[in-house]
Amino acid sequence: MGVEITPVEKSNVSALLNRSDVQALLKAFMNGSISVLKPVIGQNGDFTYPEAEKIMGTSTRVTREILEALAGEEILVREIATAILACPYCGCNRFMVELADTYSPSSSRSKAIENIVSGLLGKRLICLSGRHTFYENEGVSRKIYSYKFNQNKKELLGKWLLDITPVIEALRSKGWKVESPAKIKGKSGVEHTFSLAVSYKGDLKESVDAVVDIIVSDMLVDESALSIVLKAMDVNAAKKLLLVVPGLTDKARALFDYYNTFNVHVLECQNVSQINSALFEILASLAKIRLKTVQI
Ligand SMILES: [Zn+2]
Repeated sequence: MGVEITPVEKSNVSALLNRSDVQALLKAFMNGSISVLKPVIGQNGDFTYPEAEKIMGTSTRVTREILEALAGEEILVREIATAILACPYCGCNRFMVELADTYSPSSSRSKAIENIVSGLLGKRLICLSGRHTFYENEGVSRKIYSYKFNQNKKELLGKWLLDITPVIEALRSKGWKVESPAKIKGKSGVEHTFSLAVSYKGDLKESVDAVVDIIVSDMLVDESALSIVLKAMDVNAAKKLLLVVPGLTDKARALFDYYNTFNVHVLECQNVSQINSALFEILASLAKIRLKTVQI
């Protein structure tokens, strides 16, 4: 089984599924803690998916993009939740209503004709994003979706969504604080999602001893894995680990070697079965050093 040139589409799916925020969302779908993501009208009139935002720690816009990308890959199934009127020029769904008898009719039309036109076409609306003016009946319908998990993809995703419950339980039994998936606020104020975070003493809000990201793929993982470097730069964690199955591409490895100053350690595992034991070994060894350091 040599390394093959991977089609673009396939590696896009990989890049999407390798994200720990996406993994957190899919795990929530697969273990049944969420069954459907329904749209909710946000404060500024946009449709949001608060549950998905909370699980992934992503912004409203990024959340919507991820949900659409997952639907595009048929991992999520879209269902029309509602359809709303939108501006035919820019798609905006926030309007002001101009009252028919207060605006001056165009020079070519009498007030009486204007009233008939408005009777046929509906109210005159002004969209708030682009200030476009149009009649209600000229507006377009914009579909707003709910998202469900495509049960047919469960087997495929099982490969990606590794079950690390055994190692989490083993670490917790030592009295350490473990969160998985873990959301940690970076120095920038941005919240990042990691596959796992450990604190040997105290709690994770005060000190993080290690953050771990795990990527499982059916092919060598490309530079998309480097997102951990960006996240790692932003969070205060003593050690940052990346476990990759089955391994990194040469290019990705070279980049990691170059950026190793950010305390990111990479372990390439041949298969998924090695992950739990490798993770336990590493985190237990790290505890010896960390706890010693704390005591001195
Ligand atoms: Zn508009």
